[in-house]
Amino acid sequence: MGETPEELYARAAGRLRMPPVREWETFPFEGKLRIRPLEPPVAWEHPRLGEGGVACGRCARPDDAYLWADEHWRLGPLAEPTGLPVVVILESREHYDLADLPDERARELGPLLLRIERAVRTVGDVGRVHVCRWGDGSEHLHWWFMARPARLPQLSGSFAAIWDDILPPLPDDLWRANLAAVAAAMTC
Ligand SMILES: [Zn+2]
Repeated sequence: MGETPEELYARAAGRLRMPPVREWETFPFEGKLRIRPLEPPVAWEHPRLGEGGVACGRCARPDDAYLWADEHWRLGPLAEPTGLPVVVILESREHYDLADLPDERARELGPLLLRIERAVRTVGDVGRVHVCRWGDGSEHLHWWFMARPARLPQLSGSFAAIWDDILPPLPDDLWRANLAAVAAAMTC
């Protein structure tokens, strides 16, 4: 049996450690840092957006809001440009969480992840495509594809998601051109 959230809190709250962030090239911040106190557990998990498919924004979105779609999957952009050259999101067409995917959909997922990674790379000067699934915000299955610009090692690794908010948003025309390149690569 693992420990309960209450046990974890009791064990850890007074013993938080400051990691050696000053040594990390990828850490986006500098200056004096202080760890936030660990908050005690809440009584229950916060509900996610669209739980049980009720009032789910991803279910309600029409196909023309996406860059590419087939019978079972849709690939879409964010609502507005961010700092990285490309950020796109793959969603199942039907409302599933990852653990609930039917076998047939699960079998499609592997080849699709590779196909989208390749499509994102066609934008050019992409050092890495980070493929992530968090799922704490909305329940409807969605995978992030985040293009890390080539030759900027400071943007490497998991902090790329933070750098995406730190870098100024892409100019609108460049953002649209990059998304169009991904869409074209998905349809060829
Ligand atoms: Zn949904």
